[in-house]
Amino acid sequence: MIKFDRVASFGMARAGLLKTAHAMIETPVFMPVGTLGTVKAITPQNLKDTGSKIILSNTYHLMLRPGDELVEKAGGLRKFMGWDGAILTDSGGFQVMSLSALRKITEDGAIFQSHIDGSKHLLSPERSVQIQHSLGSTITMVLDECIKYPSTFQEAQSAMVLSSRWAKRSLDAYKKREGHGIFAIVQGGQYKELRLESTEQLKSFDFDGYAVGGLAVGEPQDLMIEVLSYTVNALPENKPRYLMGVGKPSDIVKAVQQGIDMFDCVLPTRSGRNGQAFVTGGSLNIRNLRYKEDFSPLDELCSCYTCKNFTKSYIRHLVKSNEILGAMLLSLHNLQHYQDLMKKIRNNIINGINLDTLLYEQDDL
Ligand SMILES: [Zn+2]
Repeated sequence: MIKFDRVASFGMARAGLLKTAHAMIETPVFMPVGTLGTVKAITPQNLKDTGSKIILSNTYHLMLRPGDELVEKAGGLRKFMGWDGAILTDSGGFQVMSLSALRKITEDGAIFQSHIDGSKHLLSPERSVQIQHSLGSTITMVLDECIKYPSTFQEAQSAMVLSSRWAKRSLDAYKKREGHGIFAIVQGGQYKELRLESTEQLKSFDFDGYAVGGLAVGEPQDLMIEVLSYTVNALPENKPRYLMGVGKPSDIVKAVQQGIDMFDCVLPTRSGRNGQAFVTGGSLNIRNLRYKEDFSPLDELCSCYTCKNFTKSYIRHLVKSNEILGAMLLSLHNLQHYQDLMKKIRNNIINGINLDTLLYEQDDL
């Protein structure tokens, strides 16, 4: 079991403490994404320096390569990758739907072909939980069926009903350990009736936390916030709430205002590798000619290693020359920007300051 305590509230927004076996996590929290057992271009020490306490890793990728048995032999993913913080693993469902060829959903699970070597696999709720045990995950996610956006009511309904049955099977297969937990995932697309039904079904089981799935899949931000407004309201107040795969800074601020506590997204690292930096007031593309002779840091207000030691001009040169260090410095800065934003959000909630003050216009990334 993991323990979640609310420290303060402001409107629907909550500041909390999530106590796990591997980290004491202040919420709202942002989890950097370490898909293949590494947050790309970032060392675990760098990650720690940004204030990150928990990262996300992907069951689908690790089961295929290097294989969950090998990771278990190595002493679990934390030991294998040299990360002493907490790890949340997804169930693999989302990647099966988005990456693998020839997938077939049956009552038993998802049958798919590996995108690496074409080998055939069955990912059932039980198998997903077993893999996450082998990885030594701090937080395990249930297997769910993810659908595309937009989807019809019928598609969303049948995926939601199947996901509820899989959630129960995942919970039954889960071995409880102190400081570890398992989260359910609310589904139902953009349909209020289905979201509320999904929430009611999942609430009847004793999960350690609740994720909202099936958002950040291409729908407009307004629709995402609307779905959250009724879904989060129906979730238990004393459990952490996790919005999967979100998002841009403004998405995060607005979702916290709806009562979300946990986030993950590839955006800070992926955009770092693409030459984009998140800075106070928006974002910038370092390839732009205007930075050629700009000898100021990416962000005067940022205290990260990148901003303390390097200029825009130099980082632009690295990126233009495809030097690995460019991706490393930008990824580190972007993660620091995200973690600083989470700190500001939390302080605002504790001090009763409206989170709207943290919203700003984003350039298109
Ligand atoms: Zn910085």
